[in-house]
Amino acid sequence: MKFYSTKNKKKAYSFREAVIKGLPEDNGLFMPERFPQLSESFFEEIKELSIAEIAYRVILPYVSEDIPEADLKLICDKAFNFEVPLVNVKKDFYSMELYHGPTMAFKDFGARFMAGCLGYFSKDSDKEVNILAATSGDTGGAVAAGFYKTPGVSVTILYPKGKVSELQERQLTTLGENISAVEIDGTFDDCQKLVKKAFLDEELNARVNLSSANSINVARLLPQSVYYFYAWSRLASEDRKIAFAVPSGNFGNITGGLFAKMMGLKVENFIAATNLNKIVPDYLKQGQFMPKPSIQTVSNAMDVGNPSNFDRLMSIFNKNWQLARQVVKGYYYTDEETLEAIGHVYRKYGYILDPHGAVGYKALTTYMDGRPSVTGVLLETAHPIKFADHVEESIGKKLEEPEGIKDLYSRNIDKIPMKNSYDKFKEYLIEKATVEG
Ligand SMILES: *Cc1c(COP(=O)(O)O)cnc(C)c1O
Repeated sequence: MKFYSTKNKKKAYSFREAVIKGLPEDNGLFMPERFPQLSESFFEEIKELSIAEIAYRVILPYVSEDIPEADLKLICDKAFNFEVPLVNVKKDFYSMELYHGPTMAFKDFGARFMAGCLGYFSKDSDKEVNILAATSGDTGGAVAAGFYKTPGVSVTILYPKGKVSELQERQLTTLGENISAVEIDGTFDDCQKLVKKAFLDEELNARVNLSSANSINVARLLPQSVYYFYAWSRLASEDRKIAFAVPSGNFGNITGGLFAKMMGLKVENFIAATNLNKIVPDYLKQGQFMPKPSIQTVSNAMDVGNPSNFDRLMSIFNKNWQLARQVVKGYYYTDEETLEAIGHVYRKYGYILDPHGAVGYKALTTYMDGRPSVTGVLLETAHPIKFADHVEESIGKKLEEPEGIKDLYSRNIDKIPMKNSYDKFKEYLIEKATVEG
């Protein structure tokens, strides 16, 4: 399988090249040349397969020229080695909890899979790979944990000062080893711009071997299509259609779902659920894509004013707005509605949502009204404990602390504070690469 830039269909890249590069030179995004079609027998057998086995079957056609089958199996077993409960919240409504990995967010799947791929690729290379990732909260922790101590890989994470939770900051800044955290005096969009600029800087790229671990990397994207197959295999039947609600920011997770659909998975609709950063719901409504500065909300992993996967959505739908809005339904909610939903769901059903999941809950509930033959699956993207303040206030009681958390608070924080300046950032990257040599 070859990969192409969304901006240039002529130049082909291998999976390996696409993963290591992260972004094509032309500032587009990598897309597969086609979507492999899964066989009917796959959809019959899938009910018996574990999620790691599903991952292996779904991802193999994209990577088979670059990763031997046995290695891919190992990578999938490692990336998909925690449980994915499908919790029945209310009638025909399931919460797929994607947060049982090491950093308690769905991004663990993508980060762990990508780390596995880069670990495999770096086996026969003596050049160190420098991963850059901007985070609005969860990406950074997942990438840091996923790549921690991966040989041949050094990681730099940028995060906006004062705009991630204390827990998230600790997940970024307490590992050390091959992980560095840079605290930018600016917004998440500023962080993302610095990273984008670094990738387009020819002089820098000649000196430092840069790669991206943001949701724009294809190795992050492919594993994010796997759990859609998994949920379908456990919940679909002759007379039940499946719709997925996806709390969205950069729209990588929902793009993973659309990949699954393009490979043959029968999905009635995808629900794009956002907070007031409603760029995509607005696009679906009006047909115009209008990026804006991001607005800070309680579901901060979705505070994105210029969703980085939008070009991929356009590529999947051939820039056809009518088609896009047939498949993807957009909804957005305020902080007040989000927090109210957390309290409501807890009191009525005894289930605890995090703020991102709560946005998705509201969207899916609205969508399902009047669609009795649809089973709804909410992608619960983060553990409620990651947003303990808001959640505890909404449900009126303390949350239980999962094990891994207590340990985080006993470690030292190590971060590099930096102005929002590309020159400073570049200087830092060159210095770091020189020191590590
Ligand atoms: C990253 C994140 C999202 C948004 O995912 P995208 O792939 O960027 O759309 C939603 N919820 C949580 C908890 C996240 O960490």
